[in-house]
Amino acid sequence: MHLRSLLAAAAAASVLLALSGCGLVGGVAAAQSAGTPDRLPVGASAELGPDDGFIPVGESVALTDDVPAVTQLDSRLRDALQRAAEAAAASDVRFTLVDGWRSARYQQYLFDQAVAQYGSVDEAARWVKQPDQSKHVLGEAVDIATADAMDWLNRFGGEFGLCQIYANEAWHFELAADDTGTCPPQLTDGSAG
Ligand SMILES: [Zn+2]
Repeated sequence: MHLRSLLAAAAAASVLLALSGCGLVGGVAAAQSAGTPDRLPVGASAELGPDDGFIPVGESVALTDDVPAVTQLDSRLRDALQRAAEAAAASDVRFTLVDGWRSARYQQYLFDQAVAQYGSVDEAARWVKQPDQSKHVLGEAVDIATADAMDWLNRFGGEFGLCQIYANEAWHFELAADDTGTCPPQLTDGSAG
């Protein structure tokens, strides 16, 4: 690979990572694959496991799985997701979760990684929320796969109360619709709210 394309790949990975404001692990994977030296594999140093809501890179869980990432979700959010998933299945769209509930220490780990990546607490806070501000830690947010599921939820999720909150996080959904199924205007990124 020529140096120029290598640099382009590294830049693309940085953009991916920058977009992962809620700490989506996929961004970490992209950075790792580009050889970013200051990112350790998630779980390697903190010994994160299923009890932290940790879902390994490249894996996902079903809404019916008996793992803390799912079972520790707010029951209203889980119910809404299940109702939406049943409706989406009629269109052959399947939901899986790449992140759900996270322990505070998992969120802290993601934040610390972001500080290492971006060089300051203030800059990191634009992309990853601290544990006391994260809806994932409260069990009130999920990161959805696949792209088809994100698209479906963007169009129909409001009927089930589910909304994309941040314009730069197509995968991140919370219960936020009003009684008419209307979602609030999206925030630019995680620092906006
Ligand atoms: Zn999220």
